[in-house]
Amino acid sequence: MASIAVNIHDIQEQIKAACLSAGRLPETVRLIAVSKTKPASLVKEAYDAGQIAFGESYVQEFLEKSEDPLLDRIPIEWHFIGHLQSNKVRFIIDKVTLVHGIDRLSTAEELSKRAVQHNLHIDYLLEVNTSGEASKYGMQPDEVVASVETLFRMPNITLRGLMTIASPDRSKAREEFRNLRLLLDSLKMISPDPLKLTELSMGMSGDFEDAIHEGATMIRVGSAIFGWR
Ligand SMILES: *Cc1c(COP(=O)(O)O)cnc(C)c1O
Repeated sequence: MASIAVNIHDIQEQIKAACLSAGRLPETVRLIAVSKTKPASLVKEAYDAGQIAFGESYVQEFLEKSEDPLLDRIPIEWHFIGHLQSNKVRFIIDKVTLVHGIDRLSTAEELSKRAVQHNLHIDYLLEVNTSGEASKYGMQPDEVVASVETLFRMPNITLRGLMTIASPDRSKAREEFRNLRLLLDSLKMISPDPLKLTELSMGMSGDFEDAIHEGATMIRVGSAIFGWR
């Protein structure tokens, strides 16, 4: 298998090529390396290859990894990309740069409450179910529109954009990415601070090029960097 450094380099090249064909600047797309189920040693290897932002999905695993002696002194930017339950918010609140998977008002409320307690400011994304699959987490698009006024008022947290996991079927995924972008556009029209709504977290190993074409600002890539899980 190719080394992690080679994989990261290859993906950066694919990002550049996708941006070129989409008429975008490569600097407008951030690569989040999804390290769930992978050991701290591989995160370190990716970091040494120049990767700064990492995504984790499971609270317990994330805490153990972020406190691992191999990693605890290096300035990794951690993104929490998994489904976050309210009762777990307090464990991660002071350790993450961005929370991608907020999918209900009650979790946002908890995030806000804990951020106030810790005197922190937290950026987050709402997870949207763009595929309509009942098995998937995420708010329905109309639920997002109905909730944002309440969300915009919550102290110490800032909605920065939207996140989705698309259908495995690539022909459907492209349209789902587009719908996420259109939903973000409509939120900008009702937001008191539209300049804050900049992020579209969409695209994974199998579909990030399509996501870039539809405006992704963050792609979450796991297996194409670290191998199969
Ligand atoms: C696991 C995971 C990814 C990465 O998936 P790959 O197909 O391995 O690139 C991206 N986003 C989320 C939310 C994930 O849970």
